[in-house]
Amino acid sequence: MSKLFAPKPPATSKAALPDDYHLHTLLCRHADGSPEAYRAAAEKLGLSEICFTDHAPAPCGYDARYRMPPEQFEDYRAMIGALQLSAGPPRVLFGIEADYYAGCRDFLEHWLGDQNFDLVLGSVHYIGQWGFDSPENRAVWERIDIRDAWRDYYKLVGELADSGMFDVLAHPDLPKKFGHLIDENLLRELAAPALDRVAAAGMAVEINTAGLRKPVAEIYPAFPFLQLARERDIPITFGSDAHTPRDVGAGFAEAARLASAAGYRKRARFLRRRKTLVPLEDSFPSVPPQAR
Ligand code: ZN
Ligand code: FE
Ligand code: FE
Ligand code: ZN
Repeated sequence: MSKLFAPKPPATSKAALPDDYHLHTLLCRHADGSPEAYRAAAEKLGLSEICFTDHAPAPCGYDARYRMPPEQFEDYRAMIGALQLSAGPPRVLFGIEADYYAGCRDFLEHWLGDQNFDLVLGSVHYIGQWGFDSPENRAVWERIDIRDAWRDYYKLVGELADSGMFDVLAHPDLPKKFGHLIDENLLRELAAPALDRVAAAGMAVEINTAGLRKPVAEIYPAFPFLQLARERDIPITFGSDAHTPRDVGAGFAEAARLASAAGYRKRARFLRRRKTLVPLEDSFPSVPPQAR
C-alpha cells in the first residue's frame, strides 16, 4: 500500500505517557502554580499517577533558601492530602525529594521512615559546600577540573545508595546541567560502581526530563548511563521535575523512547514505598497497536 493511502491511526491510539513521579510545589519557594493546577495538567495528559516530591525540609539549615522550613511540612502533607480526595485518574501520591549531604542522616534516617511517604527520591545537588547545579554557583565550573566534580558526584551517589534511605536516584547525571560533559568512557568508569551500589540497595533510577529545559538540553541520564542501569536490572521511574504546572509530563514521549531503546520493557510504580513493575509497553507502545 502506498503511503498516500495508508489508513490514519484512530484518534484513540494516542499513546499514554508514563506516570510523573517528580513534582514540586509552591512551598519550596522556587516553584509556581497550585497543586490542583499540576494535577489538572496531568489529567489533561491522561497520566494515571502523579507523585509530589517537594524538597525535604532540613532542620540543620542546609540549602534553606530553596526548601520549605520544617514547620511547613505539615502544610505540605495537608495540601497533598486534600488533593488525594479528588477522584482520579490521576491518582495522587505523596512523596519527597531528599538530598544526600554530609550530616543528612542525623535528620533523615528517622524522619523519612515516619512520614508515610509513597516515594522518596534521593538527590545529590551539593559537592561539599558547592551547590553545583545552582545558576548562582555556575562560575565555579570554569575554575575546576570538571572530571573531579563528576568523580566526587558519583562517589556521593554511591554513598547515597549505601545509606539505604532512598527509593529512587533522581536526575542521575545532574553535573551535566550547564553542559559540562565528560567523555563517555569516563562516564561509564565513574557511573558503573555507583550503579552497582544503587542495584545492591534495590533502588530505581529516574529518567528526568528537566534536562531538556536546561542548557545541556538532554534528558537525565544520558543513554550510556541508562544502558549501564539496564544491564544491572535497575528499575526506572519517570519525572518531569516540574516547578510549574505546564511542565508536568514534559518530554515524556521522548523519555519513554529512550528507555525503550536502552532495552527497558517495564517501569516501576510505587505505593507506600513498595515498588511494583508495570509494562512500559502499556504506557508507551514503541509500535502502535494497529501496526502489529
Ligand atoms: Zn526545586
Ligand atoms: Fe533535584
Ligand atoms: Fe526536583
Ligand atoms: Zn530535582
